[in-house]
Amino acid sequence: MRFEILERDGLARAGELEIDGVKHSTPALAFIDTERYPAPNGVLKIEPPSKKGKGDLLIEPSGFSTDHHDGTEADLRPAFRGSPYGEGKYDEYLSCPIETSSMLLDSKRFVDSVSELKSGDRLLKPMYCSVMGLPHRLALLAYCGYDVFDSMPLIMAAEHGNYLTSTGILDYARIKDLPCSCPACASEKRGKKELLQHNYTEALNELRLLRHTISEGRMRELVEARIRSDPWLVQNLRLMDLDHYDLQELHTPVKGAPFQAGSKESLSRPDIIRWRKRLEGRYKKPDGTGVLLLIPCSARKPYSISQSHKRFRQAIWQSGRADAVHEVIVTSPLGLVPRELELFYPAKDYDIPVTGHWDRDEKRMAEEMVSWLVESQRYDLVVSHLGDEREPVNSVLKDFVDTSQGSPGSRESLLRLEETLRDQVPAAKSGGRHSRELADMRSLCRFQFGEAGEGLCDDARIAGRWPNLKILKGETQLGMLTGDRGMVSLTIDGAKVIASSGAYSVEIEDFIPKGNLFAVGIERASKEIRIGDDVAVAHGKDVRAVGVAQMTPVEMELSERGEAVRIRHALH
Ligand SMILES: [Zn+2]
Repeated sequence: MRFEILERDGLARAGELEIDGVKHSTPALAFIDTERYPAPNGVLKIEPPSKKGKGDLLIEPSGFSTDHHDGTEADLRPAFRGSPYGEGKYDEYLSCPIETSSMLLDSKRFVDSVSELKSGDRLLKPMYCSVMGLPHRLALLAYCGYDVFDSMPLIMAAEHGNYLTSTGILDYARIKDLPCSCPACASEKRGKKELLQHNYTEALNELRLLRHTISEGRMRELVEARIRSDPWLVQNLRLMDLDHYDLQELHTPVKGAPFQAGSKESLSRPDIIRWRKRLEGRYKKPDGTGVLLLIPCSARKPYSISQSHKRFRQAIWQSGRADAVHEVIVTSPLGLVPRELELFYPAKDYDIPVTGHWDRDEKRMAEEMVSWLVESQRYDLVVSHLGDEREPVNSVLKDFVDTSQGSPGSRESLLRLEETLRDQVPAAKSGGRHSRELADMRSLCRFQFGEAGEGLCDDARIAGRWPNLKILKGETQLGMLTGDRGMVSLTIDGAKVIASSGAYSVEIEDFIPKGNLFAVGIERASKEIRIGDDVAVAHGKDVRAVGVAQMTPVEMELSERGEAVRIRHALH
């Protein structure tokens, strides 16, 4: 058996499970095949030794079976379902939790077992799910890293007259008009056989959708939608966020797909929490900015291209004090977005429903983050130019000027903003636009690479037009911020700067990467690397390439196959 992870989206992955040369796409359904419930043709089956064909998963016969074990290593043992007649844990080829049926009653057990199954080299094995995989649960289960699901729960549902859909379970007997046009539902016959066929189809359709969604990097959104009909699923997601943030964050790309933040759970997405933690852990305001200006977000992103933000910026420029003003956007669910980070994922990639009303969690988040900002960054003057979020934010500010009076876009408010800045901020002595551009870039580099990032901006200058800006030292380009990516892409010279402090580096054996870098050649990878990060590829002190990480640092060190770094530049 061979398992290759082809695409990742958090802990979820789309891969290929190869058994006896037969390839199955994962997430996959593994069919139980008995006389009473024959599996369809051409699918992944679970078979005992006497029936095992090419490409099937082999299950060891239980003590009650008349089947004889020929001694071949089984993929599954009867214990995997928590049978008291099977002994111990068994997961040489497949990673299997034990006693899944008890997890259905206990969300804490469920999430703790995910964390256990995703540690060490078990991370690379296909993860097998028994009993739990109903169609409406498949999204959450795949989100937690399950790759293969048995058909047992589909059969049990058919036995109980349960008509399965991706959004929940319906009573087959009560549906007048079946909401599906699969061959079984279209046949106008209503029996257990048709119900089972429908349940199979529904699960297979959902798995196809999951593979597409993983490929698009949008599993979290789908999961937030799918969990609604089942409190067990909601509990599981909330506990994953509360108890296993670190595991999820490790697998969350730094540059992900755009998303809708439409549910309570969106507030605790790992990429959102990382944003807030990274601000608190890494952030420093641009040098020379003494005035904090708090402004509301806009639906259009990046914010600067919105009409409202164009007006704010016009007022700031007209005050003549723009270089001293640090604009910080107050927004849910991110909390705060400093202007110079507005391109960085997910600042320009989220959408929220706007009702003009902030709920208690959002208010508390805004209060906490604004308190952190003013205490840690030390401004000479704080100006609040806010709308809906004005009340919670102003309640935690001590000395500040409120220029919006609740309507930030009005002509009077904009004029008040301009005058306040002109009257209360001394005119800048030196610096000007170029030094501010560099200060903003330094702040962004620090946010992206930690302290190592600041080295990119020492004695550097900025060239180009926002949002595409180059970092140059003399005539040597170290990196470039691009509007698409929202972060700095390094050159080899830039990678040398980052690697000199040991950060964001992948240590390889003694060779020069040609094409992309595969995991097999990697010796070590810095712990702070996340999928999507720019990394230096080095042998000892010698930087040999630079590119974008395609796996977590843990996988880079464990894996024997798969693309680890997509190389942008390599030494010749
Ligand atoms: Zn159907």
